[in-house]
Amino acid sequence: MIVGIDLGTTNSLIGVFEKGSTTLIPNVFGQNLTPSVVGISDEGEVLIGAAATDRLVTNPQLTASAFKRSMGTSQTFRLGSQKFRPEELSALVIKSLVRDAEIYLGRRVTEAVISVPAYFNDTQRNATRAAAEIAGLKVERLINEPTAAALAYGLHDDKRENTFLVFDVGGGTFDVSVIELFEGVVEVRASAGDNYLGGEDFLDVLEAIWHEKTKVGELSSTLKAQLRQAAEQAKRCLNRDQVVSFGIQRNDSFIQCSISPSEYESRIAPLLMRLRRPVELALRDARIAVESLDEVVLVGGATRMTSIQRLVAKMFGKLPLRHIEPDEVVARGAAVQAGLKMRSEELDDIVLTDVCPYTLGIESSRELAPGDYAHGIMSPIIERNTLIPASRLQTYSPIHDNQRVLSIGVYQGEARQVSNNIKLGEFEVQLPRGNVAEETLVDVRFTYDENGILEVIATVRNTGDEKRLVITRNSGQMSKREIEAALKSLEKLKIHPRDQDENIAMLNRANRIYEQRLGYEREQIGKLIDQFELILEGQDPHEIREFRLELQHCLNALEFRE
Ligand code: AMP
Repeated sequence: MIVGIDLGTTNSLIGVFEKGSTTLIPNVFGQNLTPSVVGISDEGEVLIGAAATDRLVTNPQLTASAFKRSMGTSQTFRLGSQKFRPEELSALVIKSLVRDAEIYLGRRVTEAVISVPAYFNDTQRNATRAAAEIAGLKVERLINEPTAAALAYGLHDDKRENTFLVFDVGGGTFDVSVIELFEGVVEVRASAGDNYLGGEDFLDVLEAIWHEKTKVGELSSTLKAQLRQAAEQAKRCLNRDQVVSFGIQRNDSFIQCSISPSEYESRIAPLLMRLRRPVELALRDARIAVESLDEVVLVGGATRMTSIQRLVAKMFGKLPLRHIEPDEVVARGAAVQAGLKMRSEELDDIVLTDVCPYTLGIESSRELAPGDYAHGIMSPIIERNTLIPASRLQTYSPIHDNQRVLSIGVYQGEARQVSNNIKLGEFEVQLPRGNVAEETLVDVRFTYDENGILEVIATVRNTGDEKRLVITRNSGQMSKREIEAALKSLEKLKIHPRDQDENIAMLNRANRIYEQRLGYEREQIGKLIDQFELILEGQDPHEIREFRLELQHCLNALEFRE
């Protein structure tokens, strides 16, 4: 049985797709949301979820929360005498969810689709996979949270074309994604976000206000946890009440402060500002204007904040959608994807596409003046927000004549200097003896798929020598044979768009009409051909498809007008 799991910073959920719809599975307390909290009882037993949440206050030194934020880092959490890595704590949460699901379903759960923020890098994704493995699950697939949200909503929509933006503010992460839905296809056009912005930051503001107003300094860890719980309640009340008071019991006195929604709003203004930039970035990457969005979807518990809802309405000039509980959307989407994986007939027509969240490229040198080079410059090959699976080719030359080897350092990230990006691997290609730098061309092809397999092939054009490196982010999850099979299925992507039949045919037709016409019409067709060739060089299938359609319309209008 494959389940869908939303492994959240604050809460986690598990669901299944059955009989054409999603069901979220309640935990032993009858709740769909299991707090992502792990604790150790006084007897040394592991406590998970609500049982551990209570102990955040009474036994903070034996309880861990918000560990999703540390996924992929070397940070450890000390619970009493034991140390845990974030993926081990996540594994305990996953195990508890799976146990609840097995009792509820009366079946073994062996595989899962797990959601991750779109902005998680490879290390963070690896850690998530590792968490599931430790919990004894095979990860069918990691799904970006906004993609899952799109799936959850896509099913409720009819098949009309739809462009929308997913605005997801969870406990610790903020994700924005621009999604296109057409003919049963869900396509993520762009995503952006902030790994370190979420509901928890709004809590920090309330805590800071409490300290300022009460003039109470450092608190013991027990009192700190008590204050956090009180602030959480206050944050929710601020959505509806005029003035909210919150505080903690210290010795004989209750130390509290009051705050009005307007005061709160002015204090959280910098956080609200930080929600704007990723929206602008995602829309720009997707080349979509705010006005072209059909809907805005709210996801994540923190979008229940009225200040965030107001900001969204103002930014987009429309009220956001909230048919589904904002903290259940992702889990329902992951369950839909699990259903897809189990080949439920109801979902056969939904094809899922995804984007590459970071730019992938190689280290290069740039000639500033003759003989003067800047080294360590990132040369992007597959750019951020490229639809995956994707395959792109760039051509490079050595710097010096008779250079014997070309080093190919593979990196992930947006920075211009590779030293600020993440290094994924490196290899060398031998160059022919006595070569002339300018005439020595090395084609570097990157092929990247939704399983996170990156294949890099460098081919020396003059000799035909080829070197290949395969980088996988799912350590040990897929066997060598599975990886080769996945790469084989990507073979057809490796044909350069200019050599693909549909594009050749379109160019032939355009050239034929160009030859037949004269004057202004010829000039117009010539311009369209130039533009199409430029777009083909960009190798972006989405752009190519769109322009090819446009070109087809223009040519039809010309040919069939008379
Ligand atoms: P999630 O990770 O989607 O479960 O989101 C959890 C975050 O949502 C936490 O920071 C909560 O404080 C926040 N949250 C949940 N409900 C509300 C609410 N009614 N008002 C404000 N924040 C909320």
